[in-house]
Parts: sequence; structure tokens; C-alpha cells
Amino acid sequence: MGKIAMTTPIVEMDGDEMTRILWKLIKEHLLTPYIDLRTEYYDLGLKHRDETDDQVTVDSANAALKYGVAVKCATITPNAERVTEYGLKKMYKSPNGTIRAILDGTVFRTPVMVKGIEPCVKNWETPITLARHAYGDVYKNTEIRVPGAGTAELVFTAEDGTQTREVIQKFTGPGIIQGIHNTDRSITSFAKACFQYALDEKKDLWFGTKDTISKTYDRRFREIFEAAFQGEYKEKFEQAGLTYFYTLIDDAVARVMKSRGGFIWACKNYDGDVMSDMVSSAFGSLAMMTSVLVSPTGAYEYEAAHGTVQRHYYKYLKGEPTSTNPVATIFAWSGALRKRGELDGSQELQDFADRLEKATLGTIESGKMTKDLALITTLDDVTTLNTEEFILEIQKNLEG
Ligand code: NAP
Ligand code: MG
Repeated sequence: MGKIAMTTPIVEMDGDEMTRILWKLIKEHLLTPYIDLRTEYYDLGLKHRDETDDQVTVDSANAALKYGVAVKCATITPNAERVTEYGLKKMYKSPNGTIRAILDGTVFRTPVMVKGIEPCVKNWETPITLARHAYGDVYKNTEIRVPGAGTAELVFTAEDGTQTREVIQKFTGPGIIQGIHNTDRSITSFAKACFQYALDEKKDLWFGTKDTISKTYDRRFREIFEAAFQGEYKEKFEQAGLTYFYTLIDDAVARVMKSRGGFIWACKNYDGDVMSDMVSSAFGSLAMMTSVLVSPTGAYEYEAAHGTVQRHYYKYLKGEPTSTNPVATIFAWSGALRKRGELDGSQELQDFADRLEKATLGTIESGKMTKDLALITTLDDVTTLNTEEFILEIQKNLEG
């Protein structure tokens, strides 16, 4: 059988540590034997980021905008220890942050569900996708520790010098103040990415804020979503049989817990930070969480939600066997291949993505899995495999 041809390359962003090992194994055993893989390769491994003064990260993000589809391996975000470990010229920023800023994108995280790994919430039958706004609010705050009595005011000075003032509080003793902001532009990008992704995935969209209490700030989020929906997406949602609904964040939380899943939940930055960890851990395992960054212009960057699995890598370097779960990284590739297939009109590529995912899940359902899953599975007859054995089992399944 001939290999599947590709017309447009996928932007390939290689990464670090154990996930870099997974990356190579996945390409070698699960992709290149079946696809005439065309990628534009960027090495985002920390050493090469350092050699290029991080220019490679910027170039890879621009390539993602150009080609529309990218797949990324997990990468190290350097801290002080990493600067020493790798002898870095400086403490580079998070590659994900850099890429997100260039794509102006929103991150959608979806758990991979499989028989034998059951969510803690028993009524969650299908995945919940969490969309987190990635700009502003408390993540770009200004804070003051108030030493004692006095008046705190909110002041905005327009370019022409006119001022708008609001008293925050007349303090009678010590306390704290916090200033936060967001922009219409960023909220609009977030809203559009959410509506677009809901259409792509054929899923309903839920959005919640606290606009009963925050009548200007949170209200603005609600208004911008509503305006984008009415202006651009309402008819498309109707045609697709989809719903967008807005509710208060606390009501959203209650409904999510009682739901059967199967929708996209858009959250403000802080809500998304907190809720994504709750949703992902309740679905079972970080190693089963996929992630896609979607730009408002329709560029897609797929990746696993977890990091470089450093602890396993150090074992690997010592020649010890590892049992690292490649599922989220495999699904990053299948997601990118499927999207490339959709954009290029290649049914073969889309079918291959489906087959690869099915072979991966089938392997787990047959009781063969990595250690992290073996520890939490409800299946009885389980074989725990090491990293490479598990990938080879998936390959057997793919060919069977
Ligand atoms: P991590 O790589 O997500 O791993 C944390 C722990 O979770 C692991 O030690 C392992 O637990 C478990 N785990 C995660 N993925 C797994 C997998 N695929 N298979 C099996 N177990 C898995 O987080 P980290 O160790 O805190 O961070 C390591 C590096 O990743 C850091 O340098 C950080 O900057 C980077 N990072 C990158 C991204 C990204 O590129 N998107 C995201 C997060 C972190 P056990 O050790 O108990 O087996
Ligand atoms: Mg967090």
C-alpha cells in the first residue's frame, strides 16, 4: 500500500526531554510508515532556542499563521535551575506564551475518554472542552498594600487629559487594593475563537461570568460575546443545530457537574485556570488531556496539555525503563493531521487520523497501557507496558 500524500506541510515544533523521545517514537512507528509526512520543522528544544536567542519560537509561530496548522511537543519553560542546567544565555519566556501572543489565540483543552478510565463525575459521558481566556484580569494586576487610613480611587486619564474617577474605598485602617483590566480587542478575539471552535467541533458553547456583581467589567464580557454571536455566528449556530448560552459562573459550575458533557465551556482567565485543573483531574489523567490553540484568523496549534515529564526523562537518561503515556501527544498529531486533511480536502489524511486514534484507544481498552493508566483503570486484566512497547502495540493495532 502506498503512503498517504500531503499537499501542504504541517508546522512541526519539536520540544524537550521525555516528550522529545515520545515525539521521535511516534513519528518513527505511527506516522512515517503510513504518511509521506511533510512538515516544516522547527526545533524548540531548549538548546536550539538558546542558540537562536529564541528566534526559532517566533519563526515557528509565524509559520503556524502562514500554514494554518501546527503540532507542538512539550517544551521547558526555563527557571533559574534550567538556566544553570543548560548554560542558557538568559531565562527565556515560556514558548507557549510567545506562540499564544503571536497567534492571539485561545486554548481549548479536551480530555481523551476511553473505556476503563472513568471520570470521577459518573454522569460525564462525553468530554467537556474548557476554553480559557488567556489575557488580563488578575494575571496582569497592579496591587497596593494599604498601610492605614486613606482613600483609594480608580482614575482613568484619557489621551486628551480628561479624567474619570471612582472611589474604591475610604479606608479607616490597613488593607489591600487591586487594579485589573482587559481590552475589548482581546475579549473579542476570545469570543470569536470560542464561536469558531464550537462550529468546528459541532458542540454547544457555554459562557459564564459574575455580571450580577460586576456590572461593568464582567458585563462587558457578556456584551462582547452577545454582539459577536448576534453579528456573525447566530445563523451558523442555528444551521448546525448548536446552542450558545450565557449564565452566571456559579450556575454554570452547578450545571457542568450535573451535565453529561459534550460541550465547550468558555471561562474568564482565572475561572479557566481553576476550572481546567478541576475538569482535567476529574476526567482521569493529565496524560490524557489534549490542547489546541486557535487563533481568531483560523490557525490551529495542537499539543499535549502536560509538560516534558522531566522525572521520567532523568530515568531514561540513566538507562532505566520508563512508562510514559504518549496518548495526548499522539492525539496532538492526529488532531493536526485531521485539520490539515480538512483544509486540503484530503479524506485519506482525515481517515488516517481517525484510525490512529481508534488504534490508540483500542490498545488501552484491550488492557495494554502505560503505568499512569494502569494505576487508575477499572479494567481487570491489565498489562503495564513501557513507553516503546506501548507505542509498538498501537502500531500492531493500526496494522491489524
Ligand atoms: P509534567 O511534565 O506535566 O509532569 C508532571 C508529572 O505528571 C510527571 O512527573 C508524571 O508523574 C505525570 N505525567 C505528566 N505527563 C505524563 C505522561 N505523559 N505520562 C505519564 N505521566 C505523566 O510537569 P513538570 O514535571 O512539572 O514539568 C516539566 C517541564 O515541563 C517543566 O520544565 C515545565 O516548564 C514544562 N511544561 C511544559 C508545558 C508545555 O510545553 N505545554 C506544560 C507544562 C509544563 P510521575 O512522575 O508521578 O509519574
Ligand atoms: Mg493553573
